[in-house]
Amino acid sequence: MREERLYDRIKGGIYGVAIGDALGGTTEFMTTREIKARYGYLKEIVGGGVWQLEPGEVTDDTMMTLCVAEGILENPAEPLEPIGRNFLRWYKSKPKDIGITIRHVFEKYDGNWFEAAVQADRDLDQSGGNGSLMRCLPVALAYADKADMERVTRLQSQMTHYDESCSEACVIYSRIAYRLLRSEDLRETIMSEVAGAGYEGNILDAPDCEPSGYVVHTFRWVLHLLLNSSSFSEVVQKAANLGGDSDTIGAIAGGLAGISYGYSSIPSGFSNVILIRNRLDEAASGLYSLRSSAAQGFEK
Ligand SMILES: [Mg+2]
Repeated sequence: MREERLYDRIKGGIYGVAIGDALGGTTEFMTTREIKARYGYLKEIVGGGVWQLEPGEVTDDTMMTLCVAEGILENPAEPLEPIGRNFLRWYKSKPKDIGITIRHVFEKYDGNWFEAAVQADRDLDQSGGNGSLMRCLPVALAYADKADMERVTRLQSQMTHYDESCSEACVIYSRIAYRLLRSEDLRETIMSEVAGAGYEGNILDAPDCEPSGYVVHTFRWVLHLLLNSSSFSEVVQKAANLGGDSDTIGAIAGGLAGISYGYSSIPSGFSNVILIRNRLDEAASGLYSLRSSAAQGFEK
């Protein structure tokens, strides 16, 4: 029999990424002043914005999250090859929006993701963007074994981002997601997982940084929104109204909010408008089955 509570949290996480992305995609790169003048306070998924989105259309954040989810489902013991293959297939579909680091890695890729990531870090003089954090959630949903989860979390980040601050943010994110799946308290979980990592002084009050694509700044805003909201809707709406890298902040925060509050607490006005619901449903079911299966504990 399906364990409904766990399934509700896993599906909430996957939809949370997509809803945060679709809602925040409208205001990406805008300032708070521009958002206020145009939308007042944006509450609904309306599309438009710099990418001229259809209402309910998602961007790279959700599409790359699905690449990771589907790669893990194809081969949970050795997921990097299928994840990478999914990345390249998505890249060949000529998506409207790809981050600078990831585009560069795709251009340099010649059979070894880690080498391409090092090359991009050298060419661009940094690779501390939020592109590996925005797609990370399926790892925590898939692996019930904590050591497997942390190993795959780190590796999936290093495929494109040769920067320890990216890997570190991904590991903290996965650990929080893992505990929320076990119905632990959102606030306590965040505060204990960030302890000693340099985030704890920058998240209770509004962070003293822009809501930018730098992974440390992104993650500060994500954690701040989660700590200062009391519903799924509040988290993703606040993210959308920040502007800057609002779709990615919304996707990352929305993923954790979706796990914590559960799919059943997400208003249908959000979930029903997402255009790729079938793919999200399949990913959620697959990840639930994988996590619940007796086949956990893969070879290292
Ligand atoms: Mg995006």
